[in-house]
Amino acid sequence: MKALLLQGIYDLNKNNAPLVLKDIPKPIPERNELLIKVSTCGVCHTELDEIEGRTSPPKFPIVLGHQVVGKVVGIGDRVIKYKLNDRVGVGWIYSSCGKCEYCLEGNDNLCPDFKATGRDVNGGYEEYMVVPEHSAFLIPEIFSDSEAAPLLCAGAIGYRSVKLTGLKDGQSLGLTGFGASAHIVLKMVKYKYPFSKIYVFARSEKEREFAIHLGAEWAGDTLDASPEKLNSIIDTTPVWVPIVEALKNLKPEGRLVINAIRKEDADKNYLTKINYPEHLWMEKEIKSVANVSVSDVKEFLQIAEELKLKPEFQEYPLEDANIALLELKQRKIRGAKVLKINS
Ligand SMILES: [Zn+2]
Ligand SMILES: [Zn+2]
Repeated sequence: MKALLLQGIYDLNKNNAPLVLKDIPKPIPERNELLIKVSTCGVCHTELDEIEGRTSPPKFPIVLGHQVVGKVVGIGDRVIKYKLNDRVGVGWIYSSCGKCEYCLEGNDNLCPDFKATGRDVNGGYEEYMVVPEHSAFLIPEIFSDSEAAPLLCAGAIGYRSVKLTGLKDGQSLGLTGFGASAHIVLKMVKYKYPFSKIYVFARSEKEREFAIHLGAEWAGDTLDASPEKLNSIIDTTPVWVPIVEALKNLKPEGRLVINAIRKEDADKNYLTKINYPEHLWMEKEIKSVANVSVSDVKEFLQIAEELKLKPEFQEYPLEDANIALLELKQRKIRGAKVLKINS
């Protein structure tokens, strides 16, 4: 079967085609595993972190991709929840220990034994993949394969970020960075919190126009001050400037939630601009989001179905994954990017 392999760590500024198309054996589902014929796989910023070594896969070669949609075409002998031909999705959470304090309280995303799809085990940039049935999700019928893929990471982690802000209806929310996850958050918040106003900070004019088109109250540049101070802000950028700038825009007891698996180091010096009274005092908080739990994905898919929340997306053939990744690196973004694999 066809698979795109990552064979080491690369600098995308020097190598713009780090993934190589190869023929590898089709995996075999064991015990509680499903064999999925992959139909689509979303392209996530985390793939850039993996390729460039900020969250390095523990072994190579590895198949990236953790927003996978496909059909069940094989099952292990212990599978109970799924049958052949079910349409399922797989997100970033591949497995966890099931026994530690975090797993027992439903925060399996924090498990020390957390295994990520497309980093610790092969993901969806290939024709077939296996996954434990516990980490597979039925895809609601209203979504096409391409619409469903970005819901599995960008959507689910966006949902977790909103949960962590503690937002109440009527409170103001800022979004700094406006890519795949933030645009889904905007759509979700507009439905779930109809009295909340959403303020978007984005570097590119196109992203700002897109935010207004989707119903943001205001959209400005990363360095702009929002017209009012905000209850909470979610950051989805890979850099540090927006962190400092966001803190400035928070109300007393406001909370900044950083939704990024890793930050890049290029502008880290900007942190020295933090001025305690302006940026942190008045009980402001900073919280990060780590991974997603199984229940985050499950709950978010339900909400997405209720709200008929369909992400905007652009499709690419599997062979063009390197192009999609490079565009993501260059922040040529409108909605989410999705690879079409088997039709
Ligand atoms: Zn992701
Ligand atoms: Zn655990």
